[in-house]
Amino acid sequence: GTLTVSELADKLNKDASEIIKKLMFLGVMATKNQDLDDDSIELICAEFDVEVEKEIILEDTDLDKYISEDKPEDLVERPAVVTIMGHVDHGKTTLLDSIRHTKVTAGEAGGITQHIGAYQVENDGKKITFLDTPGHAAFTSMRSRGAQVTDVAILVVAADDGVMPQTVEAINHAKAAEVPIIVAVNKMDKEAANPNRVMQELTEYELVPEDWGGDTIFVNLSAIKGEGIDELLEMIVLVSEVEELKANPNNNAFGTVIDAQLDKGRGSVATLLVQNGTLHVGDSIVVGNTHGRVRAMVNDVGQRVTEAGPSTPVEITGLNEVPEAGDQFLVFKDEKKARQIGEARQQKKIQESRSEQTKVSLDDLFEQIKQGEMKEINIIIKADVQGSAEALASSLRKIEVEGVNIKIIHSGVGAITESDVILAAASNAIVIGFNVRPDANAKKAIDREKVDVRLHRVIYKAIEEVEAAMKGLLDPEY
Ligand code: GDP
Repeated sequence: GTLTVSELADKLNKDASEIIKKLMFLGVMATKNQDLDDDSIELICAEFDVEVEKEIILEDTDLDKYISEDKPEDLVERPAVVTIMGHVDHGKTTLLDSIRHTKVTAGEAGGITQHIGAYQVENDGKKITFLDTPGHAAFTSMRSRGAQVTDVAILVVAADDGVMPQTVEAINHAKAAEVPIIVAVNKMDKEAANPNRVMQELTEYELVPEDWGGDTIFVNLSAIKGEGIDELLEMIVLVSEVEELKANPNNNAFGTVIDAQLDKGRGSVATLLVQNGTLHVGDSIVVGNTHGRVRAMVNDVGQRVTEAGPSTPVEITGLNEVPEAGDQFLVFKDEKKARQIGEARQQKKIQESRSEQTKVSLDDLFEQIKQGEMKEINIIIKADVQGSAEALASSLRKIEVEGVNIKIIHSGVGAITESDVILAAASNAIVIGFNVRPDANAKKAIDREKVDVRLHRVIYKAIEEVEAAMKGLLDPEY
């Protein structure tokens, strides 16, 4: 690794001349812009009583810094990446299976169907990638780790059941991520199917069909009978054309981990979604806080492949450790560089876990706003009854504090769930529970994600608390 004298001075918060003096003392003559070798860096750090976290000093661990920019003329169309969301039992899994079975990529029929966490289908010569874990929890937990992989969300609503609590959750998760929504009205084969009611109910959430003057695409289908699937795929292609999804296949690959586990025989196995560039067998790669070389790649139908382009999911082996879903990856031309950065990220993670910080919290809202110019407070409300949730939401919205807004990104009835906490973490929100508590999984998530959760039994106390925190945020008036 290389650092110049003045770069090292910056990192140590010293003057370059002080470094040069120390170097002279050690018998090294150096100028400001001279590169230092590892030994000199270590010696200088020791002189200043700085514990040498070698890799951290030497390497910038932010993967984004190493992504080379693409020229517009190198960009080509790439397949959309789609997540299926909706209420439990409305048919998400059935729809994913149905799409997969009717539309396996040409030439791959007969391959062993593998569940690697994502799959690709082809419709009219256009590919589409589906993430195989339905539901918004997986979607949002990836987002909370800084990864945005979904281009289009399919909201499945059973035509015989209509909009249900998790339908609303899914809508709010997709909206928070600013991902376009296509509504799939499922179970149209059922006698009780009432697609008009679904449309009616969804207008409340600003999902208005085109026929009614809105811009949301609705597709009626029966996942179980495979009816309406083609139309759904056409609409996905349509939306992705509008979104102008592009990538450069001729760059070093980067993307996101969809799934990963330790396999007894193969070691660390990870499903990567390539978001840009092309991934090759043999590539040196940093994945989250681990690294390695791509030893083998298997596609979604179990075939060995040697490369994977934009929006393609592949399962790879060859990593030193098991990364986490949502981790980012990047290929490096230089194997040594990949190793150094991988190790530096590992160290940084250990350091960070020692000093983990709560995200947004009412207690230090003032400080956070002063530093970050945060002018919007995101809040999630869970209450025992709908009426209380609404009353609380409308009172919170009415709090008038100059320059600071409250945004209720989700409100619902029932215990605080893991999904609520994950959404809060991803959206930097505070959770307010009114006459409800977190369930067991939510409690674990609160600890893990460091989300501020406030429980109340009296509405005005909840409002008072938020208001007090907000008043602390006021910019001084002149
Ligand atoms: P998920 O919880 O959203 O993943 O829902 P599933 O895909 O597991 O489906 C829940 C139930 O609804 C299952 O019994 C499915 O067989 C059934 N189902 C799903 N799609 C349809 C459909 O189009 N028509 C009918 N009649 N049943 C369906």
